[in-house]
Amino acid sequence: MLAFNEPMYTQKGIGYITEAILKNKRLNGDGEFTKKCTKWFEEKYKTDVLLTTSCTHALEMASLLINIQPGDEVIMPSFTFVSTASAFVLRGARIKFVDIRKDTMNIDETLIEDAITDRTKAIVPVHYAGVGCEMDTIMEIAERHNLVVIEDAAQAMMASYKGRYLGTIGDLGAYSFHETKNYTMGEGGLILINNNDYVHRGEIIREKGTNRTQFFRGEVDKYSWVDIGSSYLPSEMNAAYLLPQLEMAEEINSKRLQLWDNYYQGLKELEEEGRIELPYIPDECCHNAHMFYIKVKDLDERTKLIQYLSECDIKAVFHYVPLHSSKAGKQNGDFVGNDKYTTRESERLLRLPMFYSLENEGVEYVVEKIIEFYLAKRNRR
Ligand SMILES: *Cc1c(COP(=O)(O)O)cnc(C)c1O
Repeated sequence: MLAFNEPMYTQKGIGYITEAILKNKRLNGDGEFTKKCTKWFEEKYKTDVLLTTSCTHALEMASLLINIQPGDEVIMPSFTFVSTASAFVLRGARIKFVDIRKDTMNIDETLIEDAITDRTKAIVPVHYAGVGCEMDTIMEIAERHNLVVIEDAAQAMMASYKGRYLGTIGDLGAYSFHETKNYTMGEGGLILINNNDYVHRGEIIREKGTNRTQFFRGEVDKYSWVDIGSSYLPSEMNAAYLLPQLEMAEEINSKRLQLWDNYYQGLKELEEEGRIELPYIPDECCHNAHMFYIKVKDLDERTKLIQYLSECDIKAVFHYVPLHSSKAGKQNGDFVGNDKYTTRESERLLRLPMFYSLENEGVEYVVEKIIEFYLAKRNRR
């Protein structure tokens, strides 16, 4: 079976983990490997970052940092992963879902303003598939209404919008290093703190509400409980697994982009025939080939294609039951305006195998089978 995903793996990662255990004899957070990962990001992204236990936790930290209170409202797309919403719901927020753009599957920036009320606290754009949202417009709206922008850049490491890395444009950003993402430590994430107001408190919230981080730097002579917080720092073993992938980040990115291009070229013909749609990358965006998806006619055709590919030993998957139609989404949020594209487009979307160790032959095989599926359809007519 051609897997849908294989987690990113490096031999060096094993060496680093062994080093953390046997040489450093230190597995709790903020040791040598966490520091090296942090430094890599800070040098590349020119912003403050903190490694976390997940992207979900990075978003929870963001929610704590902006002091979400019961009744506050947060604007986001409904076509996203649960954590984008749950991080704010945990603090009592009500979610205002707005429709997506058909072309990128990202939040429709022209609909955001209609969802703003005097209780709105933040806008959370999600960069779906590592393709940037229309950030200039979103930042301008946020500024005019005095709102915080938190980028859910879980899928977007290495991708950029107008030459700026995604996750570094809003006040706060979040990356995921879950095993399904381009760079992984199994479970893990990162919060990017681009607004200086949040830097100091970010360290405290991550360390159970204590000033232990300052204590280790020698800035205070004892540490104690100073604020609310939780435990958001990952083990050194996770950081050790991630570090070699950062060291070869460009290489990983170009390999993925090449696989992506091969899918695109191979399936272009079907798009030209009007049978499927391929992903759209706006001129302002450099993406990171986080995923390759196609959009088929409808739910029924997608079900049949998944079945066909499965018979050919290919695992293709779809995702995101739109949050506003889920049980908890209904309880904790409302869709503002019309659901013109969220439900319809999500039912048409199919993700194809995409991971670093995938080979061109794998891509060619998937392309061949998809073309076969549509040929058979044509012949049946
Ligand atoms: C993967 C993902 C998350 C959650 O990441 P974890 O690290 O698993 O918590 C959140 N938002 C989006 C858009 C994601 O794709």
